[in-house]
Amino acid sequence: MLNIRFEKADKLKEKPDQNNLGFGKYYTDYMFVMDWFKGKGFTDPRIVPYAPIPFDPACLVLHYAQETFEGMKAYKTEDGRTLLFRPEMNARRFQTSNERLCMPQVPVDDFVQAVTELVKVEKDWVPTAPNTSLYIRPFMFAYQPKLGVHDAEHYLFMVILSPVGSYYPEGLKPVKIYVEEDMVRAVTGGTGFTKCGGNYASSILAQIEAEKKGYSQVLWLDGVHKKYIEEVGTMNVMFKIDGEIYTAPAELGKGSVLPGVTRDSMIKLLRSKGYKVHDTEEERLSIDDLLKAAKEGKLEEAFGTGTAAVISPIGVLAYKDKVFFNNEKIGPVSQMLFDTLTGIQWGRLKDEFGWTVEVK
Ligand SMILES: *Cc1c(COP(=O)(O)O)cnc(C)c1O
Repeated sequence: MLNIRFEKADKLKEKPDQNNLGFGKYYTDYMFVMDWFKGKGFTDPRIVPYAPIPFDPACLVLHYAQETFEGMKAYKTEDGRTLLFRPEMNARRFQTSNERLCMPQVPVDDFVQAVTELVKVEKDWVPTAPNTSLYIRPFMFAYQPKLGVHDAEHYLFMVILSPVGSYYPEGLKPVKIYVEEDMVRAVTGGTGFTKCGGNYASSILAQIEAEKKGYSQVLWLDGVHKKYIEEVGTMNVMFKIDGEIYTAPAELGKGSVLPGVTRDSMIKLLRSKGYKVHDTEEERLSIDDLLKAAKEGKLEEAFGTGTAAVISPIGVLAYKDKVFFNNEKIGPVSQMLFDTLTGIQWGRLKDEFGWTVEVK
């Protein structure tokens, strides 16, 4: 149990227009901060007014990118309750990220407590308009000023909150995806399974190149053979081929694919509805299998999964500048998964899996 101190803000911000929230544009009045010092461990957990933090120019994270983060949301139900979705999964994933990056591990209970207490303080910031939510961004970084590649003697663990709009103000919309054949996101033995800042820095170039060609995101192939399908942008990806679902294997603490909370939830939903899901190492889908399935008319649906969008249906897939999948309609399985998961998250449907946690 953390003993969190509270520092009151002199003045609170005006809340933004709920119909125009966008993503990551607004931040709430408070943030959670906790230091970690070598030999001392975590100290001074606090909820303080949201404000810039001072950085020594020699601060380790600015040079060697020792940083990890998480992404989750708080949802407001129609009857006024505030819900978190499987927060302990984010806590455990944060631990595996930090373990790989040689950073201190926040105990699961402390992570969930920090998030919960901050959301409780900021309850009025959880937007109520349909499909809006409060995005939660926990993160940690090396704060000690010191040049030289090594683990640090001082880290900061922080949580900030941002009210965000509906990802699809006009309903689910299919996206155009480009299969990247040169650049890779992650390799076996690297940091693919972690949410560390460096993974994203190195992905920006491929993203920009895809945008120049008129696509909105990149489909990543594995970094060893450039053959197996891994992820789409910052989402996991699933395909429905001949009635069955395929998704790349993703395990906590290993491999090159990020084990998404949404991915895991979708797999459980799909299996509960009787779908066969192929998600093991042996069943990995190659780009050739995918091209073949598309050619034979067996590729029925393709979609990305992640906390921000929940489901991102793929309308167009192109490889080596040739479109091989073009399906502007939302598939029935994509729509069913979107409706079921968002129904559970916003408290409209019965939570049979026990995934939601009320912030009281
Ligand atoms: C965050 C993320 C995901 C999705 O994870 P969720 O827990 O479902 O939000 C997938 N892939 C990458 C690379 C990510 O960063």
